[in-house]
Amino acid sequence: MKRRVVAYIRVSTEEQATHGYSIETQRQLLADYAAGHDLDVVRTFEESHSAHKPGRPEFSAMLKFLRKRKDVTGVLCYKLDRLSRNLQDYSVLEEMEGMSIISVTESLPEGASGRFVASIHAAVSRLYSDQLGERVRHAANTKVRRGGWPGPAPTGYVNDREAKVLLPDPEMAPIVRRVFEVYANEDISLSQLVGRAKSLGLRTRSGGVLSKGPLHKLLGNPIYCGLLRYEGKVYQGEHEPIVSKALYNRAQDKLRGRSHPLTKRRFPYRGLMTCGYCGCRITASLIKGKYVYYHCTHGKGKCGQSYLPQDSLGELFFPVVEAVRLSEEQVRALMAGIRREGGRRKRDAESRMRELRRQLTEVTQMRDKAYEDKLRGVISDERWSTLESNWSAKEDRLSAQMVDLELGTGPAEDEALATFELLERAPRLYRTQPHEERVRLLKALLSNSILMGKNLDPFYRKPFDLVAEGVSRSLWLPGEDSNLQPTG
Ligand SMILES: [Zn+2]
Repeated sequence: MKRRVVAYIRVSTEEQATHGYSIETQRQLLADYAAGHDLDVVRTFEESHSAHKPGRPEFSAMLKFLRKRKDVTGVLCYKLDRLSRNLQDYSVLEEMEGMSIISVTESLPEGASGRFVASIHAAVSRLYSDQLGERVRHAANTKVRRGGWPGPAPTGYVNDREAKVLLPDPEMAPIVRRVFEVYANEDISLSQLVGRAKSLGLRTRSGGVLSKGPLHKLLGNPIYCGLLRYEGKVYQGEHEPIVSKALYNRAQDKLRGRSHPLTKRRFPYRGLMTCGYCGCRITASLIKGKYVYYHCTHGKGKCGQSYLPQDSLGELFFPVVEAVRLSEEQVRALMAGIRREGGRRKRDAESRMRELRRQLTEVTQMRDKAYEDKLRGVISDERWSTLESNWSAKEDRLSAQMVDLELGTGPAEDEALATFELLERAPRLYRTQPHEERVRLLKALLSNSILMGKNLDPFYRKPFDLVAEGVSRSLWLPGEDSNLQPTG
C-alpha cells in the first residue's frame, strides 16, 4: 500500500516574480516526486501570501488535518525552508508521533543529532538572514566568482588587482561603518545624514562629498555586509564585510520606512516576560523623559514586583544566553556526527543526480524520435507541438532540481560549524550589542520568562532547552545515538 502524506507548498510574492519557485512548479515537482516514491498525496496545502506577513492559515489547517488523520505519516515539501520558517513550526511537526518530513530537494538528517542540528540551524538562520529578504545564492555558476567583482570598488573598498578581491579601505571603511550605525541607530533622516556623513569624513575616491542620492545607494548596497548584488541576484562574496548583516538589515528597514515603531524601539524587552508575583505582563515606562524602567502592568492590582532599569534587565538576561553556549567538546562531538551524516547525504545526492540525468536523457531521446516521426509525417504538426511543450516543461523542472541539488541546502558541515561557533560566541555578541539586537537573540532562544524581583526564570524554545538544561548527552549527542545509521 502506498504511504499517505500531505503536501505543503509555499511561495512568497517576491519569489513568484522570479521563475522556478512558482506554485505550479512546486506542485509539479512534488507530484513527480510522489509518483516516483510510492507516496499517495491525500491533500495539498498551498500558502501563497508574502512570507513577511505573519500568520500562515494553510500551515495551521494542515496541522489540524494531520492531528485528525492518523493514517497520514508524512509532510512532503519542496525544500525545508518552504515548510518551516521558524523553529516552532519545525518542532510542532517533529513532535507529532510517527510523522516525518520529506523534502524533495534535500535529504534531511536522520537521527536525533541530525534533527538537533537542523533545528538549531533553522533557528539561527532565521535570526541572521530573515530580514535580508533576498535569497543568497552561492556563486558556483556565475561570473561573480572569487575575485570576479566586475566593477570598480565602491566607497569603503579598494580593488586589489593582485588577489582580485575587494579589500576594505583602511581609511574609509571605518567611516562607512560609522555612517551605517548613525543612520540605523539614531533618529536621523537621510537628508540630515548628508551633513553628518560629511563631518564624519565620508568621501568618494575623487574626494567628493556624497549627496542624498549616492548616500541612499551606499546604504542599500549589500556589498557592505559581505554580499554581492549582480544582475539582480545576490551572491555570497569573498570579501571582508564592513558592517554586520544585522546592522545592514536595520538600515534597510529604515530606508524602506519599516523601522520599528517608537515604543518598540524604546522598550525592546517588552513582551518577553511575565510577572512572577501575579502573572501579569511586564511592561515599560519612560521616567523623566529619558530613563527606561520595566515593571508589572499590575493588571490584578498591586504586587511585589518593583521597577527595574533597562540596563539591569539586560544584564539579568546574560546568564540566559550564556547557558546555551556549547562547549568545545560538545561542538567536536556534534561535528563528528555531522561528518558521518554528510557522507551519507553526499552519496544520496549523487544517486539522485544520476536519476535526474537519466530522465533528462530519456526526454531528449523521446523528442528526437518524435521529431523523426514528424518529419516522416507519422505525427501531425499539432501533435508535435503539444509533445514538444510538455517535454520542454519537464526539462525545465529537471534542470531546476539539478541546480537545487548542486546548491545543496541541507545543513552542510561548514554551515553547522558556523552555527555552533555562533552559539559559542553568543554571550560575547550579546554583551556588545545594543538592547534591540540583544532582544532579537533572546526571542530566538526564549518563549517566555518569569521575572520575580531580580530573579529571571527563562523558558527556552526547543532545542535550546536541551542545551540549557544540560540534559543527559545521550539525548542528542552522536555516538550514543541509536538512531544513527552505520556508515560505510
Ligand atoms: Zn505583578
